[in-house]
Amino acid sequence: MDERRRSHYLAAMGVTLWTLRDVQDRPALAGTVALEATYMPGSPARLRGEPGPDAMMPPVDPPGVPVAAETPPPEKTGVSDPAQMDWDQLEAAVAGCRACGLCDTRTNTVFGDGNRRARLMVIGEAPGADEDRAGVPFVGRAGQLLNRMLAAIGYPRESVYIANVLKCRPPGNRDPRPEESLRCQGFLARQVQLIRPGAILAVGRIAAQHLLQTDESVGRLRGRWLELGPDRIPVRVTYHPAYLLRSPEQKAKVWDDLTLVRRRLDASSG
Ligand code: URA
Repeated sequence: MDERRRSHYLAAMGVTLWTLRDVQDRPALAGTVALEATYMPGSPARLRGEPGPDAMMPPVDPPGVPVAAETPPPEKTGVSDPAQMDWDQLEAAVAGCRACGLCDTRTNTVFGDGNRRARLMVIGEAPGADEDRAGVPFVGRAGQLLNRMLAAIGYPRESVYIANVLKCRPPGNRDPRPEESLRCQGFLARQVQLIRPGAILAVGRIAAQHLLQTDESVGRLRGRWLELGPDRIPVRVTYHPAYLLRSPEQKAKVWDDLTLVRRRLDASSG
């Protein structure tokens, strides 16, 4: 049985999967940060940063064990494990990251933007051309639509935190490759950990599938609350604003999603 199918079966049975389980066999991927994911169709999906009691097998390394060549020079940050970094260290680590080939084609890294104490965190896919130029996520047309959508539910852009799965632009806006997402995931995991938002809005297929470790479509992931990590942060999946620009008839569905996010945050703020 191939690895992908095996993972799918195990996940469907609720068995914990360690995403870095085979890293030992693939030295090129060592140094990425381990995240544990379980995904059970029809029940909340989880992404965890540490082993749960049901862990089937231990991680090959403690999460975040670095490999010197792939992490920013420790002399610059003092630490080389993203899971231990503060904001400044993490930002410096992203700026100096050369863990995948995207560093050769990027203009700027795109760390993240907004309120580091946000209650709502928006997670997208990867920088596009505008973001690569500006070094800021969601500044192009899709970003402007996202800003309007957020403002419409009473969460103006400056009140939320926005980040992407990838911190560098894939050339020609192609989809992120699995090894790129894997190498970048420690940065996003740490951003989530530092912010500990009341809810995450995952926009688009790539963000949703990466966070929830599934290959289900956005259409199937929408419409229910999912959970992320040991803190069980509520996640809502919706369509990507770039898709909405092409398919404005889907805006009503996104509005429904955003309204539910707003309600959830209202409820949890007492
Ligand atoms: N699309 C994304 O997913 N992220 C950006 O930052 C810009 C466009």
